[in-house]
Amino acid sequence: MEMKQIIETQETDNGPVRLPVDRENHTYDDWNISYTKSHILKSVCINNNTCVRGEPNCCELCVYNYALKLPHLPDMVFHKNILVISHKSGARLEFNPIDALKLVRNEKLDIKVACSDEWKESRPAADTQEKVKPFDWTFTTEYRGTVNKKFRVEETDQKIDIFKLMRREPIYFYHDLTLFEDELHDHGISVLNVKVRVMPSGFYILQRFFLRVDQVLIRINDTRFHYEKGNNYILREYTHREAKVEQLKHVPPALFISPNEIAEQLPVISKVNEKLTIIGDGE
Ligand SMILES: [Zn+2]
Repeated sequence: MEMKQIIETQETDNGPVRLPVDRENHTYDDWNISYTKSHILKSVCINNNTCVRGEPNCCELCVYNYALKLPHLPDMVFHKNILVISHKSGARLEFNPIDALKLVRNEKLDIKVACSDEWKESRPAADTQEKVKPFDWTFTTEYRGTVNKKFRVEETDQKIDIFKLMRREPIYFYHDLTLFEDELHDHGISVLNVKVRVMPSGFYILQRFFLRVDQVLIRINDTRFHYEKGNNYILREYTHREAKVEQLKHVPPALFISPNEIAEQLPVISKVNEKLTIIGDGE
């Protein structure tokens, strides 16, 4: 929340002050790996709520609101934090917050999957309006990156070879981007981030959704990608882990704030292994 205020003070009488966009590009064989990074989405419409859907001057906040129809957005949406992995054939893999938030359930039917009963007990009673809003206030997403049609996606038995990834090699490029974050009104945290690492043998990406509802549950949706030099495909492995806090009595609560350490303690609920094959220019 603090960060949001700092950014809003950048608005001046002479109009908004442009904040720097951080960007970097890295070429690896036939791939280009790039990211952009900037400030968070503003919390008010810069056009006094006169934005029209689809028009070029529609502000970024309204673009999000029109696309998502969520009762509210996470506290911090890093709308310009985007990671793009593109192959010279046109195959493209991208990570961006808007596509991730499109998968947050906003239908009444689905609110039960978000443990709404526990939530009701743990929320301050004054906050009644929020309770009845039919959307997943945990912002849980099963986003696995945005893949274009130049990849053929199919399930596979092939697994990412963790031992290969653990081999010591130089790192050509590394970056870590947060896509969105929300503190659940001080009842925990919901955060989506993505890390990329490029090495002589290939590249590895870990996108992680981490949710902790204090005293209720911990959930981690990890999506790993591994490309090995010479292959015409990327392996993608999606793992959903979660546990209620009462199942974690043997775990020191200090670990609850550390996604890396708690991940090992959470049972796997589901797992999908997929192969993203580059189909190239022909199609
Ligand atoms: Zn607007």
